[in-house]
Amino acid sequence: MDFKKLISHCKEYGFIFQSSEIYDGLAAVYDYGPLGTELKNNIKQYWWKSMTQMHQNIVGIDAAIFMHPKTWKASGHVDAFNDPLIDNKDSKKRYRADQLIEAYAEKIEAKIKKDVDKAAKRFGDSFDEQQFRTTNQRIIDRQVKIDYAINTMNDFLAKEDMVGLKNLIEELEIACPESGSRNWTDVRQFNLMFSTQLGNIAGEESKLYLRPETAQGIFVNFLNVQKSSRQKIPFGIAQIGKAFRNEIVARQFIFRMREFEQMEMQFFVRPGEELKYYDYWKSTRMDWHKSLGTPSDHLRFHDHENLAHYANAAVDIEYQYPFGFRELEGIHSRTDFDLSKHEELSKKKLQYFDPELNENYVPYVVETSIGADRMFLAQISEALQEETVPDAKGNDSTRVVMKFNPAIAPVKAAVLPLLKNHEGLVNAATDLFDTMKTRFQCQYDEKDAIGRRYRRQDAIGTPYSITVDHQTLEDNTVTIRERDSLNQERIHKEEVPDMVGAATNINKLL
Ligand code: ATP
Repeated sequence: MDFKKLISHCKEYGFIFQSSEIYDGLAAVYDYGPLGTELKNNIKQYWWKSMTQMHQNIVGIDAAIFMHPKTWKASGHVDAFNDPLIDNKDSKKRYRADQLIEAYAEKIEAKIKKDVDKAAKRFGDSFDEQQFRTTNQRIIDRQVKIDYAINTMNDFLAKEDMVGLKNLIEELEIACPESGSRNWTDVRQFNLMFSTQLGNIAGEESKLYLRPETAQGIFVNFLNVQKSSRQKIPFGIAQIGKAFRNEIVARQFIFRMREFEQMEMQFFVRPGEELKYYDYWKSTRMDWHKSLGTPSDHLRFHDHENLAHYANAAVDIEYQYPFGFRELEGIHSRTDFDLSKHEELSKKKLQYFDPELNENYVPYVVETSIGADRMFLAQISEALQEETVPDAKGNDSTRVVMKFNPAIAPVKAAVLPLLKNHEGLVNAATDLFDTMKTRFQCQYDEKDAIGRRYRRQDAIGTPYSITVDHQTLEDNTVTIRERDSLNQERIHKEEVPDMVGAATNINKLL
């Protein structure tokens, strides 16, 4: 589905609105509407249950957004949570230097892909893509350009060489996508944390940050949680909550926001065992994504080229968004970096006594970190489809449908009386609606012809629509229509709540 259509569908049906829209919006901040909130809550609930309910050794917390300012000194965010920023002097547009270089590489990659597709068409079944890519001179030359740009960039990023990055942008003759101008400022580091002031005291002492990740709330509570919940290593702490980053360039809808929500789990292990658990979480998390029905070829692992200062292994799970494969979730082996740093700055021991080894140590940590909003965007992108189906008369018609996994669909069932001015039908439908609403999200809809009401439910991804008609008044049966197959079946109305409840229950995914 076209990305622009997806964005307007989200607005039209109340999934996502731009923040403060009446004031022309606030860049990279979004509000969730009624259906968006339901969907996001379901996604969060599935994640939460998969972590805490399914693992005896994972417990959850809900830490405050504000933390002692030393937290961010210890975590490295004050000194190193920077992005390389560059401005174009003519268009006055601001960019991330690394993203400009990546876009340059992606453009060349697109040209390669065009050549490959052309050749594939020409050679048909006998086409060997690998051979073509390694022998076609034009493709080889282009690949050299890509590798040079990306490798040199990674080198400069690792060395924090801002002059090098600027020179590279000039050398590659990268122009401002807006104006075409190559009149660039120097590249400088820009810290992504938002800061605010505590009370009315001015100065560095009282400077507070809005947390840029939820993980630190877990680290500083490590011993509180371990002792109060009597956990033994290995064990994990899960948390869902808001995080804030002053992203330089915010693009692509809710993919990169300044205020977003993370679902993070830190798993504490014996030093030396971290890579075993890293592998475990890598495959467990990939399985979680597939359990929702996301096809394997829309997901992939991407190993980090530049390991963060705290990590000894790191991989992203990428999803194929409408604008290409991008990071959806990160799995990081963070060593004992965070806990050791907090020990150092707080001068409090953050060690675990291991009764089996009879020794104290600072545990190692494997983290899984996923953006709730990026997960939402992935599920919306996956679900929204336009397809041709037969209408009531058997003719081809187009429908827009959201094929959510029923367990996360915002509304589970719709109850539709065939006629709105018929007291018997309306009463029977209202009764059915009232028995169902205590169990799951339902809608009652009596407006317009039944076909239009079906289409409205398709457009918001409701898995089941139940029609109450004249026969219902005679034999208590109703028609239940399934969203994807369009199958319609008559069943006794008393069977409906259990049937829909079972088919849409989130626990089914666990
Ligand atoms: P990116 O490279 O895309 O900026 P990151 O590597 O900085 O992401 P992490 O610090 O690993 O991201 O954060 C963990 C997860 O939080 C990401 O996988 C992503 O799903 C989510 N996330 C990070 N930044 C944002 C943002 N600005 N808007 C929405 N979600 C985000």
